[in-house]
Amino acid sequence: MKIERFEVGPLMTNCFLAECEYTGESVLIDPGGLSDRLKKSIINSDLKTILLTHGHFDHIGGLNDILKFTSAPVLIHELDAHMLTDPFQNASSLMGIQYRTIEASSLLSDGQEIVCGKSTLTVKHTPGHTKGSVSFVSDKEFVFAGDTLFKLSVGRWDLPGGSYAALLESIRKTFLPMPDYMKVYPGHGDSTTIGYEKKYNQFMAADIV
Ligand SMILES: [Zn+2]
Ligand SMILES: [Zn+2]
Repeated sequence: MKIERFEVGPLMTNCFLAECEYTGESVLIDPGGLSDRLKKSIINSDLKTILLTHGHFDHIGGLNDILKFTSAPVLIHELDAHMLTDPFQNASSLMGIQYRTIEASSLLSDGQEIVCGKSTLTVKHTPGHTKGSVSFVSDKEFVFAGDTLFKLSVGRWDLPGGSYAALLESIRKTFLPMPDYMKVYPGHGDSTTIGYEKKYNQFMAADIV
């Protein structure tokens, strides 16, 4: 897949457009805002699906504008679905905004496969940052980790639905067993690899409590 990164919104969220190089079909991940460059790329692509790693405002804040020019379905894990229409739960009220968007077109569950052209992304339920946080895994190649795993850190667990224990369990169960060469595209900041994080990220240490 060809992956384009856009930093959008007030919290510099990474929004990704992942396109199948054979068919031109694409998925959009975490549209936290809309920039001119992102709009152009979406319009020039054959956008099939909008995938959300979780329901926080900074990952869904561009949806209302984007849905004015595309009718791609919006998918989120069932445990975060209510956040789309709840400004307290999606944390926009913390920023003094009451952001609401459409209800999900359908709900994601663990193990589900999202087909995009000749590529497949597998949904992994990785709760902890929120109850319904998910990661999208392209087999043995890369993972969109949302706010679960960052370069040298992990997402915060103190917002509604967050849990430190669940976050550590997700890191252990989902990320630790991945091969070192897997590329990680997080919800904020630079991309990294599983090998680098195993070496330097304290939250990836097997004995962390
Ligand atoms: Zn978040
Ligand atoms: Zn975020």
